[in-house]
Amino acid sequence: MVENKPTVLIVDDVSVNLALMSAILENDCRTICSDDSAQVLSLALEHQPDLILLDIMMPGMNGFEVCERLKANPSTSRIPVIFLTSLTEEEDEERGLSLGAIDYITKPFSVPVVRARVRNHLEMQRQRDILERLSSIDGLTGISNRRAFDQALEREWLRALRHESPLSLLLIDVDLFKQFNDGYGHIAGDDCLKLIARTVADQAGRTADLVARYGGEEFACILPDTCRGGAIRVAEKIRQAVAALHIPHAFSSVANEVTVSIGGATTHPSKRIDLAEMVQRADAQLYESKNSGRNRISYARDDR
Ligand code: GH3
Ligand code: MG
Ligand code: MG
Repeated sequence: MVENKPTVLIVDDVSVNLALMSAILENDCRTICSDDSAQVLSLALEHQPDLILLDIMMPGMNGFEVCERLKANPSTSRIPVIFLTSLTEEEDEERGLSLGAIDYITKPFSVPVVRARVRNHLEMQRQRDILERLSSIDGLTGISNRRAFDQALEREWLRALRHESPLSLLLIDVDLFKQFNDGYGHIAGDDCLKLIARTVADQAGRTADLVARYGGEEFACILPDTCRGGAIRVAEKIRQAVAALHIPHAFSSVANEVTVSIGGATTHPSKRIDLAEMVQRADAQLYESKNSGRNRISYARDDR
């Protein structure tokens, strides 16, 4: 059986404490121990633990400072932190919780109570993760939704700006889909969208690529670090893969099967242009594909 235990990072400058906590949690979790507060941020970034148990009084950086850093970094801010400390003053507890820690446990502690608290927090975190995943997935097609698309485009834009790399965007729209719905019914329309979503998603092969449902019968494909020529090849693969599904569309004036039109644009992000401009450029090309006969790709000229 594959073990799928949650990971807990335990930080304490006293190695006996680390060994004790590790033993307390060993049945429930995989534990990573560190006695060096300066290492916590990089350990958290690398291992993405489900929970961090953090001592406060440590040489060098104290636990409060560590917590502040974890909460300030977008890649670690979601990880729940529990302070486990011998500081019993009310102000300390208030400070720890104000910094964003989810709980504050004082030493000496009761082993069963600590174990139960850790279990409860891990369960809450598991449920938060599920909600987070669901909120980025389109209910009908199971691919990323518009929210996930907006977040990914912004992230990739910033990354491309940092690395001075090109970023490509494809907008894909099903041709004459209103007629499809009117002719075959909404349920058949839904099935058709599910199939197209899966097919489009299968064509964007790199891990950084993202395919999302952009709107009703529109899909979008973000292609990081991809130049114009590469993006046109992906677009052509998508167009052909959808055609190869051979979904009958007797009500289409373009073909007797379901087809898609695609508009694309590649940007070399700079401070002078913004992300909305890139979406507009791809959208204008989609409009061009529709106007010039559908079942085709139009691609914006290079922006350099
Ligand atoms: P065009 O080639 O110009 O894109 O024509 P079109 O008919 O595809 O475009 P239009 O925007 O006029 O209509 C889109 C249709 O897509 C409207 C609606 O019937 C259908 N649609 C949008 N979302 C869904 C959905 O979730 N399920 C189903 N079954 N149909 C949808
Ligand atoms: Mg359409
Ligand atoms: Mg449309």
